[in-house]
Amino acid sequence: YTGKTTLSFISEKIREIKVADRKSVPIVVDEESSIYDAIVTMFLEDVGTIYVTSGGYLSGVVSRKDFLKNAIGGLDLYKTPVGVIMTRMPNIVVTTLGETVLEAANKLIDHEIDSLPVVEEVSIKEGEKAYKVIGRITKTTITRLFVDLGNNE
Ligand code: ADP
Repeated sequence: YTGKTTLSFISEKIREIKVADRKSVPIVVDEESSIYDAIVTMFLEDVGTIYVTSGGYLSGVVSRKDFLKNAIGGLDLYKTPVGVIMTRMPNIVVTTLGETVLEAANKLIDHEIDSLPVVEEVSIKEGEKAYKVIGRITKTTITRLFVDLGNNE
């Protein structure tokens, strides 16, 4: 065993781990929900990012910083829908069940974000595609995987 083959063995092992094996449950609210309700959901579900849907399909993402930014702005939190402040499609970075966790982690780093919705693409009508949200991959997913690998589990 040389150092090099050990390292390639480790990276080969890491590349076998799929999003499907590691995804967690997504927290989702509808685009018409108030900012207030979305903030309450964020606290109750203990997450840093919420995925937003319209008609059941992914329409945006809202994070802690989005709420803070708009709290300063003086919006009416009870009346304003979360759709007004979210980051909107098509600017959402996503992952799929078949991608590797390494590919997902690269997206987190490249886009400087904390989480990715795991999506399934569906055809809604002629030529129109939409995403169903079926999971999430977060920085915690990656940290937990790192710990499991280190502890050899
Ligand atoms: P935080 O608010 O804790 O800094 P992020 O770093 O994840 O959380 O979010 C930074 C910005 O990127 C926010 O405006 C958020 O809406 C946006 N964002 C978060 N996740 C995604 C994603 N998967 N695709 C596109 N934009 C995202």
